[in-house]
Amino acid sequence: MKQHIFLASPHMSEEGYEQQYVKEAFDTNWIAPLGRNVTEFENEITAKLSAPKAVALSAGTAAIHMALKAVGLEQGDLVFCQSLTFSASANPIVYEKAEPVFIDSETDTWNMDPQALKLAFERYGKLGKKPSAVIVVHLYGICAKIREIREICDEYEVPLIEDAAESLGTVCHGRYTGTFGDYGIISFNGNKIITSSGGGMLLVNAEDAEEKAKKVLYWATQAREPAPWYQHTEIGYNYRMSNIVAGIGRGQLKVLDRRIQKKRYIFEYYQKHLGILPGISFMPMPEDAYCNCWLSVILLSEDCPVSPMDIMRALQEDDVESRPVWKPMHLQPVFADYDFVTTVSELHITDTQMGADSSVSGQIFAHGVCMPSDSKMTDDDLQRVCQVVRGLWKSV
Ligand SMILES: *Cc1c(COP(=O)(O)O)cnc(C)c1O
Repeated sequence: MKQHIFLASPHMSEEGYEQQYVKEAFDTNWIAPLGRNVTEFENEITAKLSAPKAVALSAGTAAIHMALKAVGLEQGDLVFCQSLTFSASANPIVYEKAEPVFIDSETDTWNMDPQALKLAFERYGKLGKKPSAVIVVHLYGICAKIREIREICDEYEVPLIEDAAESLGTVCHGRYTGTFGDYGIISFNGNKIITSSGGGMLLVNAEDAEEKAKKVLYWATQAREPAPWYQHTEIGYNYRMSNIVAGIGRGQLKVLDRRIQKKRYIFEYYQKHLGILPGISFMPMPEDAYCNCWLSVILLSEDCPVSPMDIMRALQEDDVESRPVWKPMHLQPVFADYDFVTTVSELHITDTQMGADSSVSGQIFAHGVCMPSDSKMTDDDLQRVCQVVRGLWKSV
C-alpha cells in the first residue's frame, strides 16, 4: 500500500520538545489563561527575529485584525492589500467595515507590485484619499520587494503591515520577514512551516512598540479596564494564545531551521528532477534573500502540453495532495465590489471556468500548482511524485 503524501502537515520535533513544554504547563496547572509558555514564546520569537515586541494570539488572522486596529483603522477607510493571497489577509479589513483596494503582483517575486502600489496611491491621491494601511504578503515564503514597498509607504506616510504568515524564517536583505513593516504577522496554523496546532503572533515594530503592544494585549483580552470590577470603555476580543498552544509553539520554534532546510531541499529536488520538462518553471527566488520554501510552486507556460489540473488529478489518483495557487482576492465573488489596481493595461478573462484574468496574479493563479511540500517526505516520496509528473509529459 502506498502512503498518502500531504501537501504540508504538522511535523513535531524529533526530540519531543513540544510535549515537554506542554507537560510543564500541566504540572504547574498553568493550562490557561496565561503562563510561562506564552511569555517565553513571545520572548523567543522576538530574540530569533530581532523584533522589538511580539504578542501571541489565537490566530494569524487575529494578528492582522489587531494590526489594523493598532493603525487606527475606522469604518469607511481604505486599505491597499495584495490581491494574490489567502483570504485571511483581507477579511479583517471587512470586519472593521473598511474598504480593501486590491493590488496586483509582479513576476519577480509574485508579490505586491510596487509600480501598481504607486499607481494606487496616485489614483486615490487625485480623489483626495489615502489608505490607512498597506498589507503586503510574502507568499509561499518568497519575500516581496519589501524595500521598495517600504519606501513608497514612507513617502506617503502610511503604515505597512507585513503578512509573514507563510514566510517565518525567510530572510530578506539580512533581516527576517515580518520585521520590515510597522507590524508583522506570523501564523502557526496546522499547515504552516511550524505549528502550535493553531495560533498566531503579532510583531510590533512601530516606533512606539511598547505602547502599541500593550494596547493590542488589552483589545485581545476583552478590553478590560484596570478597575476592581468589570469595566469596559471599548469593544474587546478573545484573541489571546493559550499556554498549552504556546508550549507546542516553543517546541516547534526549536526545529524551525531544520524544517526550512528540508523545505529548501524539497524545492531543489523538484528543480533538479522536473526542471528539464518543457513548459515547466518554478517560483522565483529573489536575490539577496533566503526563502523558507514553505510550499514548492511550479508554473506551467501558456503552451505547455500539460495543465495544472492534469497534474493535480494525476497526483490525486496516486494519493498525493497538491493544490492550486491562491485565487486572487480581486477575482473572488465575495470581494467583487472592491477596486483592483494593476499595471496590466487590458484586463480580460482568460479562463471562464476558474475565473482567471490576464492580470499578473490572475496568470500565476491560472498556471501554478503547489506541489506536495511536506517536511516529512522521504527521497522515495519525492521520487514517486516526480515520476507521476514526468509520466504526464510522456503521455502527450
Ligand atoms: C495562513 C495565513 C493567514 C492566516 O493565519 P491563521 O493562523 O490561519 O489565521 C493569513 N495570511 C496568509 C497569507 C496565510 O497563509
